[in-house]
Amino acid sequence: MQPATDKSGVIPNYVGGNWVSASSTKELPVTNPATGELLARVPLSNHADVGKAVEAAKKAFPAWRETPVVERARVLFRLKALLEEKADDLAVSLTQEHGKTSSESRGEIQRGIENVEHTCGMPTLLMGDTLEDIAPGVDCETIRQPLGVFAAITPYNFPVMIPLWFWPYAITTGNTFVLKPSEQDPLTHQQIVILTEEAGLPPGVLNVVHGDQEAVTALLEHPDVKGLSFVGSSQVAKIIYAKAAAEGKRVQALGGAKNHMIVLPDADYDQVAQAVSASIFGCAGQRCLAGSVVVGVADALAPIREKVLQRAAEMRLGYGLEENVDMGPVISGPHRERVRSYIDEGVKQGGTLLLDGREAEVAAYPKGHWVGPTVFTDVKPEMVIGREEVFGPVATFTHAKSLDDAVELMHRNRYGNATSIFTTSGRTAREFRYRAGISMIGVNIAVAAPLAFFPFGGSRGSFYGDLKAQGRDAIEFYTDKRVVISRW
Ligand code: NAD
Repeated sequence: MQPATDKSGVIPNYVGGNWVSASSTKELPVTNPATGELLARVPLSNHADVGKAVEAAKKAFPAWRETPVVERARVLFRLKALLEEKADDLAVSLTQEHGKTSSESRGEIQRGIENVEHTCGMPTLLMGDTLEDIAPGVDCETIRQPLGVFAAITPYNFPVMIPLWFWPYAITTGNTFVLKPSEQDPLTHQQIVILTEEAGLPPGVLNVVHGDQEAVTALLEHPDVKGLSFVGSSQVAKIIYAKAAAEGKRVQALGGAKNHMIVLPDADYDQVAQAVSASIFGCAGQRCLAGSVVVGVADALAPIREKVLQRAAEMRLGYGLEENVDMGPVISGPHRERVRSYIDEGVKQGGTLLLDGREAEVAAYPKGHWVGPTVFTDVKPEMVIGREEVFGPVATFTHAKSLDDAVELMHRNRYGNATSIFTTSGRTAREFRYRAGISMIGVNIAVAAPLAFFPFGGSRGSFYGDLKAQGRDAIEFYTDKRVVISRW
């Protein structure tokens, strides 16, 4: 096992099976968002650093492609066992660098392991189709083949799970990989890389370069990168999609969200309040599946708002490694200021602030980036707080006269990642599913998170591409279907 950092506290890149220092001298601190403690420094790799990683991946490709798929899958079987063995340690590291609570960290690691587990079935998933006698004595078959080097650029909010949406699928289908993780919390994934070595992954199959925009640009422009996945804000997703497509690469770019949760008057308000609160305030609101706008239909608004407000007021803010903590800090000082300024703007534009988390503090951790649960009502879709992704623990309540009005209100928003409906009517739920036009739909579920076997990704301004992450889409994304027509 290699040290996570060099003597100066800068974490290394992982290239061709070696831990190597980036040649760039630019770096950023990685800090614990609850305590303010400096954990490490992350290098901002340059074009040359990225070039070395892509070269290593390209060199490893021919032998890895020829490795039988059952052997490739066995590496993932061993990795799954190691991840399970180390899950508690990984969860501690994740809470330290991200701030989420211990149970949220364990949940994230479990979701990541499920993707590794799914790729253990690659011998079956990779099979093609055959049709005999498409003409007399002529047979036709499809074979799925890998393409070469793929890359992913991932965000800070799920620094373990989101990389595992991509590289396990890419490598078990026979490709090699370069990951550019978030520069804000890259440490826990370094430990997972160490586990891939223990699992027997050959050098160069998985490479990691740390950095920011410069490293991303280098990946986008590199001719040997055949395809690229991005997860992050919509603004960047759109740029990545356009640039990668212009470079002739496969690309999927998952963006931001403003998720609407529609509550009908026939719903069970206690259950809904529990689910909606967990959705909005879980991970301090830093989830692309977090509920944001609660739309109370007809008489549902007042009771659901009161119940969520009560729950929000009772939430305990604190350091996620300690007991009895419901919500951790947000990732950084600048992000806390961003969330606070959204709340300021919400007040200025006429939203009624029922609970204000702007000045929240945790006495034992004065350097933490705290934002308390915040609740607005009288929010209109054109207000900044009703329109933009806040990515913090802020609930906004609004009213609709009917389900039709609620759907119309939701469609005025440019995003389309997830939505939920709460009702006891199957007919209403079906009608909603039919017309929602959003990719991830919860029916009496407030965080509609698809398991590894299903596609994960949004629609409208939340997604640029066609094939999503995970599920069968991942197999499609990482392979080309070759059709062979034979006569003997
Ligand atoms: P971000 O867009 O700031 O950064 C994401 C990645 O892109 C990072 O690796 C970062 O280094 C890189 N990056 C940032 N700016 C760039 C630029 N100008 N050019 C090239 N690369 C750049 O996002 P974040 O703050 O890390 O993550 C939060 C965002 O991610 C939210 O909008 C959230 O909704 C979204 N997200 C979406 C999903 C999904 O499934 N749709 C999942 C998780 C997070």
